[in-house]
Amino acid sequence: MRAFENFDLKQYNGYKVSAHCRRAFLPESEEEVIDIVRSNPDILFLGSGHNIILSQSFYDRDFMIFNGNLNAVAVDSAKGILEVEAGALMADASLFALENKLSGIEVFFDIPSSLGGAVVMNAGASGEEIKDVLLKVRYLDLDSLNVYELECDAIGFEYRNSFFQKNPRNIVLKAWLKLQPADYNVIKEKMDRVKAGRWAKQPRDYPNCGSVFKRPEGRFVGPMLDELNLKGFGIGGARVSEKHSGFIVNFDNAKGEDILNLIREIQKRVFDRFQVLLEVEQRII
Ligand SMILES: Cc1cc2nc3c(=O)[nH]c(=O)nc-3n(C[C@H](O)[C@H](O)[C@H](O)COP(=O)(O)OP(=O)(O)OC[C@H]3O[C@@H](n4cnc5c(N)ncnc54)[C@H](O)[C@@H]3O)c2cc1C
Repeated sequence: MRAFENFDLKQYNGYKVSAHCRRAFLPESEEEVIDIVRSNPDILFLGSGHNIILSQSFYDRDFMIFNGNLNAVAVDSAKGILEVEAGALMADASLFALENKLSGIEVFFDIPSSLGGAVVMNAGASGEEIKDVLLKVRYLDLDSLNVYELECDAIGFEYRNSFFQKNPRNIVLKAWLKLQPADYNVIKEKMDRVKAGRWAKQPRDYPNCGSVFKRPEGRFVGPMLDELNLKGFGIGGARVSEKHSGFIVNFDNAKGEDILNLIREIQKRVFDRFQVLLEVEQRII
């Protein structure tokens, strides 16, 4: 396990916002996770940090980070089942699936995410979501320190939502994904095609955390913001992306506060014009 004091989370959040915390722990095993939680019951959790807004410049709290640590990925080839630990990056898991000629998580090749974050957010793209391939999740109840396993049907997945988001005192440790055998080149072609399509549309030149808002019923966020001429509109160092107005980028040393102020201003303008209340997808910590 790695542990740090007065730790800057800048390299651990997609927006690359500078925010220090009292201590940061990067555990390597389930036992280490439980030990850390036992002595830090109010610890905060980060996956790869690509769907969070760090609202404070200093947290007088500890963070546990699952970002490339606690990252084992194993395969049961006969059953087509991938066993993935919470801190494994989905890009790595999808490459591992490719090497094992297993299809089902190609879209995750280009979604910056840990396995845990993908489960909590029910991440997905192009009509595919993690819930479509998820068999079960192993998790830790932070209050009892008991470890449980939950089948996919019991996780209450919704659009960008899950049992774990609604019950943040339960921490994803590991999940099992059911994939399908397929030809290596077919899997690879899909991974590359999806990635190229996304890079053509999304800002990759400035730090960001993907779509800021959930898609409202019957509307699309981008066109509403375009109609309001919000492309390029900024507050402090945060700016609505010129390339895709559903994204906010850290244009110039943004603080979490700049991002939140920009979000509030967008919500206000969209509501005034369209009477639509945009719900924030990103998790504010
Ligand atoms: C360029 C770009 C493109 C993106 N495109 C997409 C897309 O197409 N589809 C999509 O769905 N998302 C997309 N996103 C958003 C992001 O990639 C996903 O939401 C991703 O699943 C977040 O995972 P994470 O590990 O970074 O989670 P984090 O941002 O670290 O955490 C998200 C939430 O989960 C909690 N959490 C993290 N790990 C655990 C755990 N093990 N147990 C319990 N709670 C935990 C955190 O406390 C936080 O509340 C994009 C982001 C970027 C930057």
